[in-house]
Amino acid sequence: MATFPKATIEGYPRIGANRELKRALESYWAGRIDAETFRSTTRALRIDTYNHLRDLGLDEEYAIPADVAYYDQVLETGLTVGLIPGGTDLDEEFALARGNDTRVPLEMTKWFDTNYHYLVPELEGVTEITPAPERVLRLVEEAREAGHAVRPVLVGPITILALSKPADFSLLDKLVDAYATVFAALADAGVEWVQVAEPALVADLSTPDADLAKYTEQAWSTLLGADNRPNVYITTPYGSAREGLKALASVKPEAVHVDLSPWTLDADADYPARVAAAFEGTDTTIVAGLIDGRNVWAADLRTKAEILNSLSADGNAPISVSTSTSLQHVPHTLNAEKNLPVDVATWLSFADEKIGEIKALVAGEENAPEAFGRSDRAVRTRTESTKIHNADVVARVDKLPAGEVKRAPEFAERKKIQGEVLGLPALPTTTIGSFPQTTEIRQARAAHRNGELNDEQYTEALKQEVKQVIELQERLGLDVLVHGEPERNDMVQYFAELLDGFVVTENGWVQSYGSRCTRPPIVVGDVSRPNAMTTEWSAFAQSLSEKPVKGMLTGPVTILAWSFKRDDVPVSVSADQIGVALADEVADLEAAGIQVIQIDEPALRELLPLRADARPEYLAWAVRAFRLVALNAQPSTQIHTHLCYSEFGQIIEAVAGLDADVTSIEAARSKMELLEDIDETFHSEIGPGVWDIHSPRVPSKEEMVELIKAALENVPTDRLWVNPDCGLKTRGYAEVEPSLTNMVAARDEVVSGL
Ligand code: GLN
Ligand code: ZN
Repeated sequence: MATFPKATIEGYPRIGANRELKRALESYWAGRIDAETFRSTTRALRIDTYNHLRDLGLDEEYAIPADVAYYDQVLETGLTVGLIPGGTDLDEEFALARGNDTRVPLEMTKWFDTNYHYLVPELEGVTEITPAPERVLRLVEEAREAGHAVRPVLVGPITILALSKPADFSLLDKLVDAYATVFAALADAGVEWVQVAEPALVADLSTPDADLAKYTEQAWSTLLGADNRPNVYITTPYGSAREGLKALASVKPEAVHVDLSPWTLDADADYPARVAAAFEGTDTTIVAGLIDGRNVWAADLRTKAEILNSLSADGNAPISVSTSTSLQHVPHTLNAEKNLPVDVATWLSFADEKIGEIKALVAGEENAPEAFGRSDRAVRTRTESTKIHNADVVARVDKLPAGEVKRAPEFAERKKIQGEVLGLPALPTTTIGSFPQTTEIRQARAAHRNGELNDEQYTEALKQEVKQVIELQERLGLDVLVHGEPERNDMVQYFAELLDGFVVTENGWVQSYGSRCTRPPIVVGDVSRPNAMTTEWSAFAQSLSEKPVKGMLTGPVTILAWSFKRDDVPVSVSADQIGVALADEVADLEAAGIQVIQIDEPALRELLPLRADARPEYLAWAVRAFRLVALNAQPSTQIHTHLCYSEFGQIIEAVAGLDADVTSIEAARSKMELLEDIDETFHSEIGPGVWDIHSPRVPSKEEMVELIKAALENVPTDRLWVNPDCGLKTRGYAEVEPSLTNMVAARDEVVSGL
């Protein structure tokens, strides 16, 4: 039996160091290149990547995972095993991902608790499963021609079913047959190792853990019992397996991966011991996912080496070292960063640098003294750095009351005061903040970046934009206006650049979905606010109108969710620090004459822990951080919040707990369904979206009238707002003007009938 490589990774960024995949995809979609050019371009990218990984030290056979996908890894496996029908040519594959004239795209949602989005297999009506092993054989073949024995990567049968809609396990037997066919084809092609990801085993999903464990035993004992198959490497990234770990130990694959990242061990300190015990006396190679695949900090090699030692037991198979998750969640390399502060750079490790850490752990300190020395220095200088440890910030947060904080007076009292101050009409209309990011805005931003526009000229261009946005809203008759956020490209990046304690990268792109990448900022230390961040824009906008203009802030949870977090303090510490920094911004906005302030928390649900028993603690600190922002707001200041996703079930109490005066939420697509639960829990005013802004369609007045009436069945008239589902930055004015016109007319019609 070919032994498992000593040093490996779970996956590597697919997008390309210079975003080659993004360019190829977008060129193909725009018709600038044909299918053949697309295939040869992406093939070159794959082979370059394999060569690069070998040069970085992944030089054992099967050390390189071929985690290839043009658009998404779940789509790729779905097509390979036949759970997703179709996709035989490129256009069909991209139609599944993006839709076309004749079909809507598959739904897209977050992959575990990451910011990567996968396409959700749609199982309604699926009865037959016909695998297409040639998809993966092609990859093996092209790699072989270039001199590489790569390890094909699939999402596992338990995970792909658990993530499908609906999670229909009655298909399991047929699906297992399909995997068996793919495995046999790989074996026939001489492939010795296949990697199969079963992260469903680390999460509490709609299918209970015990059932997933039972299905795991059922499916994997069949698959591993087959004669004609490669060696199987089952992986469990993103957390610790519980029932699933026992199931895996009982089916005995040739190798098993466990996530031993700091995050996982924080939540489950005994995990290494449980893993060692579960596989004691078996031939299964344990692959220790010690190097954090989803964060950017340089590893403390000494601590990792200790965990590694604790895993070995006499008589067990030798242990290998890998990442905790695929490296798809981190940027390619620090070498592409020329402007990071020198000390900060030594504390970081992106995908390529992490491979060096894995090699060092495998070699051990005697054989890799420089790497261990570097790691020791990084740990020391980071702990001692006065740049990232700010005693004033720590002292200020320490002085806050512990536990729950609450704004005074109560909502009912605030509502009365705000009603008098603001004097808004019945069913007030507003928008969520951003207006279209026009070509002119993008051009101005680019011109500013390369020095063609100086700061003053750039600000002037943006002010013109704000002026037009205010005039438009006046003309349309909206009640609470916004400045339109033209100065923000990505809202989290915007605040990260203005706050101390963050660094931003130049090239730290990470795939979000398909060809879309983001550049997450890094929380390096204690966070504080050197200067007011938004008051100039809000005050300028307010000076142009008699109507209230909403100040626009991004909340602490969302800022953290879309950044790389610190690993040296609990996330709640950063949340409190951002909370008080934003509280200062609230005070400055009030001083600048702003009476309505929105604190966006669209990511509140995203950070929800994968394990149900960890959720209450998370929600407690998340709600607290939000409340800190609003804590000292004047009673007359109306605090709004905004969240955008339709499944509220799990967090509805937390949303109510934010204690905002007005909550706007996505609701148009679900036809106000969520309001059925909302009445008992919510006391605040509420703006369920009446316009689904994810679609370019202009909603008619009539359909919005229907939605407002539906909302009024569950929400009293004096608590209902009328607004779109989300910000308008991805839309064009051609849709925004008529849609908002219809929205205001719909409100007027409903009000006239009250
Ligand atoms: N205020 C932000 C906007 O309108 C909210 C963004 C969001 O919910 N994702 O763009
Ligand atoms: Zn939104």
